Amino acid sequence: MKCPTCGEPTKWKDNPDRPFCSERCRMIDLGNWVNETYTVSLPLTDIDESAEQRIESQEEFDA
Ligand SMILES: [Zn+2]
Repeated sequence: MKCPTCGEPTKWKDNPDRPFCSERCRMIDLGNWVNETYTVSLPLTDIDESAEQRIESQEEFDA
């Protein structure tokens, strides 16, 4: 398993910050979420109604 933030190998055993290698990388990833860096990869279960409608209209446009 690699740290999603820095790509370094991550320890899983006794690692409270997994899948990250350190608290620093975990906080960086958290910051990315806050800044909506990862919005496009959000699971559909966690988006609000307006975002859902936006995705639906995009799918129609692609088709
Ligand atoms: Zn890391």
